[in-house]
Amino acid sequence: MQSAMASPPVPPESFTPQPLSAWRECAHCGLVSHLPTRRPGFVADCPRCAQALWPMQRRHHSFPLACAVAALLFYLFAVLAPFLEIEAYGRFSLARLTTGPAELIAQGFGAVAALVFAVTLIFPAAKLGILIITLSGLELLPKPWLRALFRWYEPLSPWAMLDVYLLGFLVAYTRLTATALVHLDTALYALIGCMLAGAAADGSLDHEAIWSSLDSSTPGPTAPEAGAISCHRCHGLFTALPGDRCPRCTTILHPRRAHALSRGWSLTLAAAFLYIPANIYPFMAVTKLARTQDFTIMHGIIELAEVGLWPLALLVFFASITIPLMKLLTMGYILTATQQGHTEALLLRTRAWRILDLIGRWSMIDVFMVSILVALLRFGQFASVRAELGALCFAAVVVLTMFAVSEFDPRLMWDAARKDDTP
Ligand SMILES: [Zn+2]
Ligand SMILES: [Zn+2]
Repeated sequence: MQSAMASPPVPPESFTPQPLSAWRECAHCGLVSHLPTRRPGFVADCPRCAQALWPMQRRHHSFPLACAVAALLFYLFAVLAPFLEIEAYGRFSLARLTTGPAELIAQGFGAVAALVFAVTLIFPAAKLGILIITLSGLELLPKPWLRALFRWYEPLSPWAMLDVYLLGFLVAYTRLTATALVHLDTALYALIGCMLAGAAADGSLDHEAIWSSLDSSTPGPTAPEAGAISCHRCHGLFTALPGDRCPRCTTILHPRRAHALSRGWSLTLAAAFLYIPANIYPFMAVTKLARTQDFTIMHGIIELAEVGLWPLALLVFFASITIPLMKLLTMGYILTATQQGHTEALLLRTRAWRILDLIGRWSMIDVFMVSILVALLRFGQFASVRAELGALCFAAVVVLTMFAVSEFDPRLMWDAARKDDTP
């Protein structure tokens, strides 16, 4: 692949953004490369930081469409059917996917309830809906509509957390089997089906091919000129002025994400501040036979280890303690290094940022575990679970760190290093 360094935008004479369809700016390091012609099965990588620029799919659009329809059917079934049944102390309780959020609201944790409801029910459905409407409407519906719709597919993806929810369920289930008889119900299998079919749709989707079939503008010059700006939503490259709208997806174009450093800092610092109460305050209170015990995150992990569930204890330790701490420290380092224009370890920092972006969502395991436990153990003085303040602080830490990572623009690291090069 040919490549050229991105030049700082100079206002072109024409004010209408022009697509540079054959070129792409790497969203992670800012290198502008020439995209190869479509070769099914081939992945076009950024020559500098190895970020996949265009994973070309072998399958026709109808395959991800069929997978998404199957996932939606599984989803509808999972929402309607019971999820788990539990029998303890001669009492019986049944939970649906919506029981957890409803119970959290009743306990006064509306914000946690809204978060769980959104990432397990609304966003997965919205993602499937967008995919089905876009793929089935390619020939039928007006392209501006589809472009306005499809631009939300990628930003929604990390927030559709059925996979993380299932892992949270696994932790809750293993805890419950110690005290009660738990029956897995049909909705659980439907949820697994939904997650697998959704992953197949995601994996076989060719974003670039969809954007080019939605694109009605005529390609502009064949090489990037000064003033080329890439869109952070649809990744197209255009000759445009900062503040123009992307001709493909109507996002406002900025050479780099606006206020990336200050937003990155404020979100990281807010998360660091909340990380302390999230670990000090109890996460949940468990009542068993009229005796109530408070659990912090660490207590929960120790309890799992004490009953011999080492793999689960390690998993929760990694997801709830290590990942958030790693995100805070790494973001602090990345932000400081960018501000000071460090030139060393650019590739390493870019990869570290990419890993943070990928794994951040898995910290939600503990929040989901609490939402499942409060939904199931509702036997008053015999056995019940209450969410506590720590759960709210921890959920806020996860959301803030996810935004801290995604609001930062890793290309700024490369820009800052280059500025230092040229006196
Ligand atoms: Zn790159
Ligand atoms: Zn765009």
